[in-house]
Amino acid sequence: MRRVRNVPEFTPQVTFELVTLFPEMFDGLLTASLLGKAIAGGLLAVERTNPRDFGLGRHRSVDDTPYGGGPGMILRAEPMAAALDALTTARGPAHKILLTPQGRLLDQAKVRELAARPRIALVCGRYEGFDDRVGSVLCDEELSIGDYVMAGGELAAAVVIEAVARLIPGVLGCGLSAEDESFSNGRLEYPQWTRPAEFQGHTVPAVLSSGDHAVVARWRRRESFLRTVQRRPDLLLKVPPTPEEARWHSEWLSQAQIQGTNDAEASDDSVSAPQKR
Ligand code: SAM
Repeated sequence: MRRVRNVPEFTPQVTFELVTLFPEMFDGLLTASLLGKAIAGGLLAVERTNPRDFGLGRHRSVDDTPYGGGPGMILRAEPMAAALDALTTARGPAHKILLTPQGRLLDQAKVRELAARPRIALVCGRYEGFDDRVGSVLCDEELSIGDYVMAGGELAAAVVIEAVARLIPGVLGCGLSAEDESFSNGRLEYPQWTRPAEFQGHTVPAVLSSGDHAVVARWRRRESFLRTVQRRPDLLLKVPPTPEEARWHSEWLSQAQIQGTNDAEASDDSVSAPQKR
């Protein structure tokens, strides 16, 4: 596995081109922890372009009032186009993503797809959003990080960068840890514990101390599936249960019936105690 060192020695596997009116918002994020190390080690590069530098007139204006009236200011298309042209001329073409609550929801499959792209531009909005042509004419796709509205696209861009960076080989300490996580196989990850074995009267399932790797692996697969059933049943529509999972599901349901509970609370080590949500 490649080691991240302080001196850049690799061609970055992914370069993010941020187009933002507030490039300073990324200062801390890009120097700390995992991202800081990945950038210092040359595995990841992040460039910033400010559309304000391409603003119109003496005041370098980047926004204007909406046609048809209404509150707030709309980001104009020309400064965004000039910023995108400038970064393309300086460093080459990029896949251009507009961050907007109206875009396709970001998920792990999209993150995986993005991690395979060498250059990605993330266009961050502010105020009331963009002239619609920024998305339809200038960008390749529109992404949202969730069904809520933030004041700007910078935090959304940060989410995309961090999620993609974790998938770049060499960025995480252990090459396997990005494979074995929630959403990687259409399931939530199994529950995990560390020491102490007992905390405030709550103990760690004994099976995890059995030393039998096959039994532990099977237990985790089952927990992962049952946790998904309880917390994110929608994920089962995308990746339907395997025959083994279907069997676990019916066993779990019958156990719930036997116990006479609606939420299938179980207490032994072989079946997780479902969390009350
Ligand atoms: N008026 C817009 C609407 O209703 O769709 C919302 C504009 S929002 C206040 C300003 C900017 O924040 C957006 O242009 C976008 O770049 C960013 N933003 C806000 N929420 C977001 C989300 N959930 N995902 C991605 N970007 C978001």
